Amino acid sequence: MSRYIGPACRLCKAEGAKLFLKGDRCYTAKCAITKSEGATVKGKKGRPRTKVSEYGIRLREKQKLRRFYGMNELQFKRFFEIANKQTGQTGHNFLSLLERRLDNVVYRLGFANSRKQARQLVMHGHFRVNGKRVDIPSYLVDSGDVVAVMEKSRDVALIKENAEVATARKAPEWLEVNAEKIEGKVLSLPSREQIDAPVTEQLVVEFYAR
Ligand code: SF4
Repeated sequence: MSRYIGPACRLCKAEGAKLFLKGDRCYTAKCAITKSEGATVKGKKGRPRTKVSEYGIRLREKQKLRRFYGMNELQFKRFFEIANKQTGQTGHNFLSLLERRLDNVVYRLGFANSRKQARQLVMHGHFRVNGKRVDIPSYLVDSGDVVAVMEKSRDVALIKENAEVATARKAPEWLEVNAEKIEGKVLSLPSREQIDAPVTEQLVVEFYAR
């Protein structure tokens, strides 16, 4: 399946939510979604509402979540199938698995300014988990794991710059960041409340259950 290569902000506009695809810009007033929210508050007309089918609602929610984590359909569905086999609520399991991906964790720790950049940094072998180099973005971290920059990558300008601003962008509670050492620890597995994915995950479960 081909990867989307068009403007990132267009995907956010299509989903009507901030998907944080464009690095630092997403945290500024220049963000297209932030701007449009401001315009709506000032009384400008939003997009005209059209009737969306039940299927369409679930499809959009699935697409929004997939784009949020920047995954292709095959990978995304594979993660869903793993979650579906676990005990507990499938939707929560699914979100937890997505959050535990190494590329997401590197992003959440602030060592990359987007998940896309985090994926590239991981694939280029700049990070290790518990002392071992891991270059697989979908690698799942576990409670107690330590994610750190490789010694030889400590001076990579991009990683250094990101680490400098990492403390300003607060990491979620399930992670502990040491920006100086460019290292982070997984304190626990993420609960639903600690995952800020802008979706109703039950709709995604229903999409795949159809
Ligand atoms: Fe663009 Fe980022 Fe805002 Fe999305 S969140 S519209 S990618 S600036």
